[in-house]
Amino acid sequence: MPLLYNSVSQSNGKEARVMWSYDGMSLAEAWVSADEIAEADERFMRAALDQAHLAAREGEVPIGAVVVCQGQVIAEARNHREADADPSAHAEFSAIMQASRELERWRLPDCTVYVTLEPCIMCAGLMHQARIGRCVYGAPDAKAGALGSLYSIHSDARLNHTFDVTSGVLSRECAAVLSEFFEARRGSKE
Ligand SMILES: [Zn+2]
Repeated sequence: MPLLYNSVSQSNGKEARVMWSYDGMSLAEAWVSADEIAEADERFMRAALDQAHLAAREGEVPIGAVVVCQGQVIAEARNHREADADPSAHAEFSAIMQASRELERWRLPDCTVYVTLEPCIMCAGLMHQARIGRCVYGAPDAKAGALGSLYSIHSDARLNHTFDVTSGVLSRECAAVLSEFFEARRGSKE
């Protein structure tokens, strides 16, 4: 059963989630419990965390992301800003670009982006441009987060596309990989 959808409405403790094809036609509809959704969200966030741990080993700020389409991981990426000397090489930005190449389309309303840290303005902007269905993130980013902390790009009614956001999935692990990285870096400089 596909567990990833982009619109959510609740009824009797079950959530109806509808997947949409890129031209706005309904592809499928299913009723799944909130527990099933939470279980899938944790499973995919673990895959994003694996990417974050790889980034740490490469000396990059450890942030990881995966893109899931119809229950399958179709792209995974990690922050690569230092290695690529590229200010756009954020994990979720790279993962969305990969997903578009994989699906050979720029509209991704049937995709959910999992990322360990709340996206910045640039990445939230790309999610808007790609018409993603949903974003799930781990740790909030009080200083730069654009999906609830500083800005709420996903729910800004002035924009022509809004999308669902679920925050706080495995947030402790997602925050810990970052704090451990910065602690180790401070330690090595002393
Ligand atoms: Zn970003």
